[in-house]
Amino acid sequence: MSRLAIITGITSQDGSYLAQLLLQKGYRVHGLCRDMEKSRARLASFLGFPVDKITLQETDITDANQMGELIRSLRPDEVYNLAAQSSPARSVQNPRETVLVNAICPLNIMEAIREAALAGTTRFFQASSAEIFTDRAGAPQNEQTPLGPRNPYGASKALAHCLVGSYRASHGLFASSGILYNHESDRRGKQFVTMKIRDAVAEALAGGPCPVTLGNLSARRDWGWAPDYVHGMWLALQAKSPEDFVFATGTAHTVRDFVEAMFRRMGNVTLRWEGRGVEEKGYDTSTGKMMVAVNQEFFRPAEECVMVGDCSKALQTLGWRHTVSFDELIGLM
Ligand code: GDP
Repeated sequence: MSRLAIITGITSQDGSYLAQLLLQKGYRVHGLCRDMEKSRARLASFLGFPVDKITLQETDITDANQMGELIRSLRPDEVYNLAAQSSPARSVQNPRETVLVNAICPLNIMEAIREAALAGTTRFFQASSAEIFTDRAGAPQNEQTPLGPRNPYGASKALAHCLVGSYRASHGLFASSGILYNHESDRRGKQFVTMKIRDAVAEALAGGPCPVTLGNLSARRDWGWAPDYVHGMWLALQAKSPEDFVFATGTAHTVRDFVEAMFRRMGNVTLRWEGRGVEEKGYDTSTGKMMVAVNQEFFRPAEECVMVGDCSKALQTLGWRHTVSFDELIGLM
């Protein structure tokens, strides 16, 4: 019998890529979703094959009883918890929902595995995040970097991260956290800066609204290609022992780099920068037209640190490395 994997958050960027990967590997894939019809439509728009290869099930993953029943009856080989309120910016406005989905759901799943006496059978992957780390530790961050989240999103992911370690130590669960740095694709949510830039640059070049308006242009992120990261998730559950792993490219770029590269790629436009902070502007070097401006509205508080990951452990233990460079990522989006 082929292996059975449960994926929470199957309609997300990562969920859909992971489902594709697992199906290619011969798994049966059971995806948990909130709304069957919407989820089918969303997945169909992503996948190049019929959605009916995936078993979709409407489940309230915040409900411990439903989760318990599901794990008891399906007895999966692997569970990947990718469901999340995934925006650090939104978490400030919705801290309760963020903690419930991001921390209580993984707890419910691990409890369900323990209560069903499946600790020796079912392996659990938790999608953790670079946002768990303190900004005082310096860069790059690795698995030993002290935790010190700065927003409810990071705090919820840090709680889940600690619970994974605790279930591993106390209950012998094969539970691993992947500390995922920003990873993008054309399936990324529209609220993220990479998608915002992609769409806004396309519109500006087509005669739409211009300039493209962004927040902190000097913010730096370690951006990778999403399919590389779901491959890392799978590798983490095939390892000899359950452990936590950083998945990152090891190189940070600024938002300024990203918008500049996107203009060059999409419109062969080279930008020249003038001014600083909220006064900074990007001009088309050949026409002098203002293409990028800054709006205070998109700035975030508490953002001095450089989020860049050291993934040596994933390389040494799992043989994982990113395969797509920053410039290739711009092209793929
Ligand atoms: P995050 O790393 O999960 O918060 O992903 P985002 O894509 O939302 O943000 C990445 C970085 O881009 C953060 O440092 C933001 O402060 C910065 N940024 C600058 N301008 C914008 C903007 O207009 N929208 C968003 N979402 N982020 C912006």
